[in-house]
Amino acid sequence: MRVLVADDDPLVCHAVCALVRAFGYEVLIAEDGLQAWEIIQREAIALLITDWQMPGLDGPSLIRRIRAAHLPHYISCLLLTVRDQRTDRIHGLDAGADDYLVKPVDPDELRARLAVASRIFHLEQDLREANMRLQELANEFQYQADHDPLTGLLNRQGLVSHANLELNRAKRTGQMLAIALLDIDHFKQVNDRYGHIIGDQALIHVASLLRGVLRSYDRVGRWGGEEFLVLLPGTSVEASCRIAERMREQIAAQPLVLPNHQQIVLHMSIGVANTSAELPDLDALVAAADHALYAAKHNGRNRVVCYAHLSPI
Ligand code: GH3
Ligand code: MG
Ligand code: MG
Repeated sequence: MRVLVADDDPLVCHAVCALVRAFGYEVLIAEDGLQAWEIIQREAIALLITDWQMPGLDGPSLIRRIRAAHLPHYISCLLLTVRDQRTDRIHGLDAGADDYLVKPVDPDELRARLAVASRIFHLEQDLREANMRLQELANEFQYQADHDPLTGLLNRQGLVSHANLELNRAKRTGQMLAIALLDIDHFKQVNDRYGHIIGDQALIHVASLLRGVLRSYDRVGRWGGEEFLVLLPGTSVEASCRIAERMREQIAAQPLVLPNHQQIVLHMSIGVANTSAELPDLDALVAAADHALYAAKHNGRNRVVCYAHLSPI
């Protein structure tokens, strides 16, 4: 626990500092209230022992300033003064002091008051650590709620959150948002032929290829099963179809290679939809992309269909 002693009387200051140090605490010194305030803003101080009367800034004003500043750590404040009237004690505590000691300082009483401040300091430290652990847990839960454990991509909930953020942004900036819905062709056959574990590896493989194709501000997630959804912010109809076509080509060109060197070529059908007056929200966009995806499947699979064109590219 670091203690700051503020007193304009060097003799008192020296005596108090020697005692505090002897009780095992680290001590800093300020020769007046303003210097104390400067140190408090720079250093992590747990306890301030301050005189009442000092040039520039007196003890109660210094304490009021500390309380008003909402510093990141709590500072226990102890007024150490020759003023011993009832009204002084009330005034000092009302200014925000936690404790009040009258000079000349009684070493035993000072040791006991330092122990009180130390207990508060350690309580606050424990509380802060517990809060940090809680925050880490909350972040972890949030991550798990938004992500698919198999591929590490966003899951449907994460995609919906991001999509709504992007839709709001698109409305503000007047830009388009495109979405692409991708479905692996005949994926059931992969499971049937190679087993579910290899099927899982194929999903991980596709996820990694999609990540590689996209721009830093695009988002890809697992919409469900063997379906993926990609968010393409600020992307026109033509540009989104080009990107979707690139995704399709990449996946077709890079088969999953098994440990026995056998290769599994994966094909995807993709439906693309862009925001417009007709497609203003996520539900409408997904329905349109799904419609285009259905057309891609119907027209022979392994192809991109844009809702705006509704013909194979
Ligand atoms: P289509 O070209 O019409 O899309 O045919 P498909 O076989 O891909 O479609 P269907 O909907 O008939 O089958 C989807 C398959 O995806 C069936 C299901 O077992 C598999 N699948 C869904 N989720 C997972 C998963 O997490 N792991 C594995 N290994 N398979 C999955
Ligand atoms: Mg499917
Ligand atoms: Mg499929």
